[in-house]
Amino acid sequence: MKSTKLRLVTEPADGLLIGGLTALSTADYPGWLAAVVFCQGCQWRCDYCHNPHLLPRQVQSSERSISWHDVTAFLERRRGLLDAVVFSGGEPTLHAGLPAAICKVKDMGYAVGLHTAGIHPRKLRIVLPLVDWVAMDIKAPFGDYARITGVAGSGERALESMLQIIASGVAHEFRTTVHPDLLTRDAIFDIATSLQFHGARSYALQEFRAQGCSQGSLALEAQSQHIDAALAHAVASRFETFELRRS
Ligand code: SF4
Repeated sequence: MKSTKLRLVTEPADGLLIGGLTALSTADYPGWLAAVVFCQGCQWRCDYCHNPHLLPRQVQSSERSISWHDVTAFLERRRGLLDAVVFSGGEPTLHAGLPAAICKVKDMGYAVGLHTAGIHPRKLRIVLPLVDWVAMDIKAPFGDYARITGVAGSGERALESMLQIIASGVAHEFRTTVHPDLLTRDAIFDIATSLQFHGARSYALQEFRAQGCSQGSLALEAQSQHIDAALAHAVASRFETFELRRS
């Protein structure tokens, strides 16, 4: 009988459900020019999600339908012009074809980045040795995750994924989206303390952006510059690298 790990690694990339492709980004892989492949599907339901069209397990519009063949053809044409490919979402680790897709992209000479919410720690463990950089959302103190994700047990999964990323030694960034109605100062300190305790090296706080958010009340209530400089400074001192991203 095939082991679970072998089955996941050998799953073909063709089945990857792709909900979008950004041809060029300077913001999704630090310091490098990257294409971003948006994988379709996510099991969590964060109110502030700015990609709600990527949440269902099927592509919502035929205009958005992109095959894996389309992606590889595009990357062939961009050889020498792009440094990296980032798999984002939705939640990329949802897809059994992700390891094969990553291997294909690496064979083409690209570095590979991964954006994850840490939803599937078991699948993340298989993918981590294949990627060059990983960014993981930390949505709340781990004991309070379900308030943001709407899913019981999500904090335990995120904690396990966070620990795996740190143990893997892969270059990483943890980041937290801050909406003033959803995260208090104490909650932000709680998250930062936990990350520091477990050995995280890189952290970013990013202010909620209304763009794409389907929850009108959240969009109305958020104001820019809601993370004050003193808070950012106190959090920054705990990490080797820290970034504050204004809305
Ligand atoms: S985990 Fe990410 S993709 Fe999924 S609902 Fe939350 S913000 Fe959206």
